[in-house]
This record gives sequence, structure tokens and C-alpha cells, in this order.
Amino acid sequence: MPFFCILTFFERLLMEIITLGTGAASPTLERNVAAIALVRNGEILLFDCGEGTQVQFAKAKLSMAKVSKIFITHLHGDHFYGLMPFLTTLQLNKRENPLELFAPKGVKDYVNFMKKTSQTGFSYELKITEIGEDFECGTLCETKDYIVKAMPLSHRIFVLGYSFEEKEKAGHFDDELAFKLGIPFGPIRGKIKNGETVTLENGTVVTPEQIIGEKIQGKKITYCTDTVYFQNSVELAKDSDLLIHEGTFSKDELEKAQQTKHSTTVQAALVAKNSNSKRLLITHISSRYVGESRSLIHEGVKEIFPNYILAKDFMKIEI
Ligand SMILES: [Zn+2]
Ligand SMILES: [Zn+2]
Repeated sequence: MPFFCILTFFERLLMEIITLGTGAASPTLERNVAAIALVRNGEILLFDCGEGTQVQFAKAKLSMAKVSKIFITHLHGDHFYGLMPFLTTLQLNKRENPLELFAPKGVKDYVNFMKKTSQTGFSYELKITEIGEDFECGTLCETKDYIVKAMPLSHRIFVLGYSFEEKEKAGHFDDELAFKLGIPFGPIRGKIKNGETVTLENGTVVTPEQIIGEKIQGKKITYCTDTVYFQNSVELAKDSDLLIHEGTFSKDELEKAQQTKHSTTVQAALVAKNSNSKRLLITHISSRYVGESRSLIHEGVKEIFPNYILAKDFMKIEI
């Protein structure tokens, strides 16, 4: 399967990342501001919601109705100014399912102020979890299939990095071998899948280990933006299948990155390397890198972490 491809049509895969906004600070014709969709089994988790995110959903042919949870990294405009329009459109679309929102403290004031000013409300339940600056690290939400954790990173204001981890999945049930052994369909197969040893009518004893393969390890995706190079990023991203990390500046702009508390693309590569991540997607690219200066952001990255890709809007990355 290809490492990535530009999104030309929507096809349902088990898990994929779709880059809806890969720019920094302000939207440009080339890049919208921060938003990443994680699509898994028909559910969408949205990480950041910069201005115009709902338009990006339409362009990517993604359904806003499928978003179950939104995670905001920090309250700089390029990461959450698209939130209220997004929530309001869900209201106009008569959403009924609850929606969960995780964000730094302050987001409730924003939502309530906008609701009051525009005299609007929601037809659905919006469950807001605010995270205060005293938060150190931990699980924000857990389902039977996955866990989302967060850790503070280091930026000009309080910021959170997020990791999404699938839980271990049951091993493959070998239908061919089951047929050969004469295991009938029905409750007996259910018992084996539940880890029980069974005795067939012909006296054959079948153990689960004979039929079911080893458990399948879940995948991990980590999202770190905006931040300087920071040890928490390395810890949070440990053994990720995909690390999505900001690289606002090229390596020759290290001073500028330090002043504004952002990372260079080389620092993103260092986090990927030091966290033992398998792949790196560099996002949150400054609008200064257009035309001939575009090549600058690649400088020095490959030498540290070859398995990287520089994000563009509407990439689809299979996990
Ligand atoms: Zn930003
Ligand atoms: Zn920021």
C-alpha cells in the first residue's frame, strides 16, 4: 500500500488520517489552518479545528455528522476559530447524537459567549471536558477499542499533545483449520473465541491456541503542535506508528522557532527518532515556504529521520 496519496475520492479503510489543514497562523490558498481527521470504522475524531475546517470537510467529502469527539490542542486562533461554525452547522443539520469536546480551560467561556451573542443553542448534547494548566498527563477518554491520552507540551500558552492508541485486538480465527477439524458453526466456535477448550462430538479436543492466532497489537498515532522540542512529546509519542508533529520553520530559522516557541522540521525529526516512532508527518508549515524557499524545510530532516512526509492539505495516510 502507498505511504500516502492525495485524497481524490473517499474509500472506507480501517484507519486513516486525513490532513484538513496543514498551515500555521493564517489560512493561505495552499494551506488551511490546523485540523486533522482520524477516520476509523466509520467514526471520525477531529484534532484541532482551525478557521474553515467545515469547508475542508466538504472538500474532502467527509461527513461532519460522523465526528464523535473533538480534541483542541490550545486556544490560539489557528487551532480553534473554526469550532463555533462547526458546532453551529451540526445544529443546522439537526444533529442528535452527543458530541464530546476536549480542550484547554477557557473553551467553555468561548462557546457560551458565542451562543449568547448569537442567541443560538444546540439540538444535541455537547459534553465539554476542560483541561486545566495543572494537568500533568493521563487518559482523557477510553472506549472498548481505544484510549486517548494527553500531555502538556511547551508553547506560548498552555498546550496539549494527544495520543490515540488502539487496544490489542483478538487474533485471527483460522476458518480453514476449523473446517478441517470439523468444528461446527454455532456456540462451540463462540466458546473457542472466548478462550475455552472444547471437546467435539468425535472426541477431538480443541484448544483456542490451535485455532486463534496471536493477539494483534493496536496502532498508535500521536499529535504534537504547537510546541518547541520537548521531552513530553518524546514520551507521549513513544513507539507511535505515526507521529504528527509541527515543523513551522526550517532548520536555519531555529532562533525564530525558539522565540515563537515552535519547532523546526529538524526538531520534529528528532522527536520522531527519539520516540522510536515508525513514521513522521510534519505539519503546521509557515506560509513563508512557497516557491523556491520550499526546499528549505526539507533540509537536514532526512539525515535524522528518513521516513517522513511533509504534509499538504487533503493527504490521506493509511495506518
Ligand atoms: Zn498554530
Ligand atoms: Zn499556537
